Amino acid sequence: MKPARNLDHISPYLFVQIDAKRDAMRAAGIDVISLAIGDPDMPTPAHIVDAMAEAIRRPANHRYPDYAGSAAFRQAAAAWVQRRFGVPIDPSSETLALIGSKEGIGHLHTAFVNPGDYVLAPAVGYPVYSGGATLMHAQTYYMPMRAETGWLAEFDAVPADIAEQARILFIGYPNNPTGAIAPPEYFDAAIAYAKAHDLLLVHDNAYCEIGFDGYRPPALLERPGAKEVAVEIFSLSKSYNMTGWRIGFAVGNAMAIKALGTVKNNLDSGQFTAIQEAAIVALSGDQSCIAEVCALYQRRRDLVVGALRAIGLECATPKASIYIWARVPQGLSSAEFAEQVLTQAHVIVTPGSGYGPGGEGYVRISLTTPDDRLLEAVRRIEDSMV
Ligand SMILES: *Cc1c(COP(=O)(O)O)cnc(C)c1O
Repeated sequence: MKPARNLDHISPYLFVQIDAKRDAMRAAGIDVISLAIGDPDMPTPAHIVDAMAEAIRRPANHRYPDYAGSAAFRQAAAAWVQRRFGVPIDPSSETLALIGSKEGIGHLHTAFVNPGDYVLAPAVGYPVYSGGATLMHAQTYYMPMRAETGWLAEFDAVPADIAEQARILFIGYPNNPTGAIAPPEYFDAAIAYAKAHDLLLVHDNAYCEIGFDGYRPPALLERPGAKEVAVEIFSLSKSYNMTGWRIGFAVGNAMAIKALGTVKNNLDSGQFTAIQEAAIVALSGDQSCIAEVCALYQRRRDLVVGALRAIGLECATPKASIYIWARVPQGLSSAEFAEQVLTQAHVIVTPGSGYGPGGEGYVRISLTTPDDRLLEAVRRIEDSMV
């Protein structure tokens, strides 16, 4: 037998390689601190876990879920978008439950891309934007991103002939991995660009709840005309410490939601209804857990930014997200620096180059590790650099 040819063009998923290195070192008895993965270390808030414990006992939940998500979940998701961003959303035609936002992002390629088409992805970004394109025998054009322009993906730099063959434009702010945020005018320009080139605009808004210093990240759907061209993807993973639960949702353009729904009902059968019930409690219940999560990451952000600068590593102070995007020392590539930090300090950071061609020269540090281990990691990096 032979796997499909497009699998040859997929580089191993960045985090799978990093996990393998970590496991090998740990098996050898080495105390490795991983700052590599954006996976909250704190538990899911108790009221959400309690709702799940109840929901799992209800026999009705043991049967196949609704493909698009339960009506109650879609209503709760739409109501949350209305409350949080002031955008009215129709729960039945403009809302779709996802088995985690990664699933929805990956399947949008199946819904919108033909073999040979182009997908416009940020030159530094979530690997699924381009990986999903490769799996559909499509091509990725990486939009340039630079520190000087605030890491805003430059769709204006896409050559006209590529734009002509493109089907999807992916953006995501607050941004993983750079921690950058986008001003409303940027969203407006992306909407205009998508309209002009007849593209589906996808805004991956996984970090909208995690803002610092009073900043509350907006939704793209707040902008005029967004629904004509865009879907926005939300996730409960980072905001409610629910990465393991696999629950998120897509909202926006009804035609796009319908197309994604068609792909999904041919490939999956929806998320476990009990998980959807717990997610309803997360979205509709007391939101003080969000303030706690923001306070925790803001404190860690300040610890890490301070410690990195003290050892001579440059980084910006992010207004949102759970990442610090730090420049590697002069003369080293991101992969060389990450390798050096791993072998000499037993600390794992992710090389920026793993997020696409625009990430060279940087590493990403995730704040999802307890404070004492974060500081220990920076101390070890400092020792390894002298
Ligand atoms: C974590 C993350 C996701 C995935 O979230 P899930 O809902 O857990 O699949 C999507 N996009 C970005 C940019 C992320 O960092």
